[in-house]
Amino acid sequence: MFEVIVTLCLAAAPGICRDILLPGHEAATEAACLAALERTPVAALPERVIAGGPVCVPVGEALGFDEVAPGVLVHVGAIAEADGENGGDMANLGIVIGTRSVAVIDTGSARWMGEAIWRAVRARTGLPVSHVILTHMHPDHVFGATVLAEAGAKVVGHEGLARALADRQENYLESLAARIGAGRLIGTAVAPVDVEVADATEIDLGGRVLEVRAWPAAHTGTDLTVLDRDSGVLFVGDLVFDKHLPTLDGSLRGWQVVLAELVTIPASGVVPGHGGPVLPWPDGAQDTARYLDVLAQDTHAAIGRGERLSDAVAGIAAEERDRWQLFDEHNARNATVAFTELEWE
Ligand SMILES: [Zn+2]
Repeated sequence: MFEVIVTLCLAAAPGICRDILLPGHEAATEAACLAALERTPVAALPERVIAGGPVCVPVGEALGFDEVAPGVLVHVGAIAEADGENGGDMANLGIVIGTRSVAVIDTGSARWMGEAIWRAVRARTGLPVSHVILTHMHPDHVFGATVLAEAGAKVVGHEGLARALADRQENYLESLAARIGAGRLIGTAVAPVDVEVADATEIDLGGRVLEVRAWPAAHTGTDLTVLDRDSGVLFVGDLVFDKHLPTLDGSLRGWQVVLAELVTIPASGVVPGHGGPVLPWPDGAQDTARYLDVLAQDTHAAIGRGERLSDAVAGIAAEERDRWQLFDEHNARNATVAFTELEWE
């Protein structure tokens, strides 16, 4: 199998380059790939940074996915912060294959991941990717989406997603570049949201329907869940964490309420945003719910004792430390968000 790439370099550092996959020209032979390229020439790219191509080359590496139910595949991200080693591959991602088309659920931290997801789809089916569903605004979930959008997929997100990403993309990309390297990030951008979900919507992939539901502020202000009605597998994004400490970037009280309702949804298994890859349901929500309860109780108690935020942070949810990975990286920030929210109660 062959695919089309173009080599892009950083305008500011022309020695740092990356081969960008341009999706949709895949073919069994190089000749057929070149013919496909001729029929659909590549759209204009920022000229000063193109170092080579477009050319047809043997397909690059696909991201690994495991089938967790018929036609439902999951890629398991590293339980880690983004770094040069994992390249930003730290969130769980999904592929659901219908009889007419395919949906991708979350896309990783960078364009290279969207490219590797596209290859994983192509290795399994020739059906088009009709939808890419983003479970929330965090960079490890959204930044691979542009490749799939270029391949024709509609980008589906919470009604607040486009605004949230417009406000944060500069910070997100700057921080990712520092963590995984600017070269690894070449070609990465925010994909426009085509389908904004305010309440709920259904996506028919042929032979199976996905129920997409938007939630009030919880983990973030842009949380979506995706239920594959056929298999009963529920993708919950970061509304449920496993192993990786939950991170709070929305509303603590909101998250507690949302989680209480989420567990009433019947599901055969749940794919959390981190960990898993498939948790029993509703038991799989227990660790996240317990942590949020402890975070709320400890924060409430500290406020009740009249402690200042800076003095309270170290003690809040400290008893949870041994139960999670990445506790030291995220708990102080969670406590700060919780304190700021609950001091107004
Ligand atoms: Zn998140």
